[in-house]
Amino acid sequence: MSDFSLDPLIRAIAAEFQRHGMDSHLKLLRDYYRGYRAHKRWLSGLPRPPWHTELVIEWARIMRLPPFENAYPVLEHGAKCPTCTEKRDPLTDVGIRVAWAGGWVIQCRRCGEAWLELARK
Ligand SMILES: [Zn+2]
Repeated sequence: MSDFSLDPLIRAIAAEFQRHGMDSHLKLLRDYYRGYRAHKRWLSGLPRPPWHTELVIEWARIMRLPPFENAYPVLEHGAKCPTCTEKRDPLTDVGIRVAWAGGWVIQCRRCGEAWLELARK
C-alpha cells in the first residue's frame, strides 16, 4: 500500500463531481485534498513515519494485552503453519514479521497466517 498514490484517484473523483455539477462535494473533496497534501509534506520531513492507531493495536496484539490477548495463536518454536496442513519446511516456508524482546510474530509465506512464538524466559 505504501506505493499507492491517492492523487490520480482524487483528480478522477473531482472530475466526476465537476461533470455532475456536485459543487458541495467538490468543495469538501478539495478541503480534504489540501489536508492530505499538507499531511504528506509533514510525513516526508520525518525520519521515521509516525505511529497510527492500527500500529498501536498491533503491539497490543503482539504483547497479548487485553482485549487482544487471543489475537494471535501462540505456537511452539519451529511450529509449522496451523493453516497449511501439508508437511512443510519451517526454515523456508515461514518468515519473521516482527522480532522483539518478548518473542516473534511468525508468518507463513504460503497463506499469510501469523502466530506468536514467545521468547524463553
Ligand atoms: Zn500457511
